Amino acid sequence: MVLYRPLLPELVIKESKIDGMGLFTKVNIESGIDLGPSHIDTGVKEGNTIIRTPLGGFYNHSDTPNCERVVCNNECVYKNFQHWHLHTIKAIGAGEELTATYTLYDVSEHEEPYSTFNTDEGIE
Ligand SMILES: [Zn+2]
Repeated sequence: MVLYRPLLPELVIKESKIDGMGLFTKVNIESGIDLGPSHIDTGVKEGNTIIRTPLGGFYNHSDTPNCERVVCNNECVYKNFQHWHLHTIKAIGAGEELTATYTLYDVSEHEEPYSTFNTDEGIE
């Protein structure tokens, strides 16, 4: 049986000192490693056309990043879409957080309109 894995088994999402949750490695990773698809352009003509994979959704921004997004032209599962992979650009030690520079879009334009929870009401 093949299990769907949203992340490489060497990576983990956990609380970050940078902001909220972050993407971390459990093992040492060399520079120049392709960690997989991070962003996919759906090609829809209006609005937010780019969706993030689990890999692309949790890394934090850094001005001194250890990863970068790279346009993928390989025969991968998303080959029919403009998309990006996350690559390491430095050697990263086990336990370190993976970071990249946010350049694909202005994150502030993507405030989620649906993330409101009424914490006053419990479950009855
Ligand atoms: Zn690809």
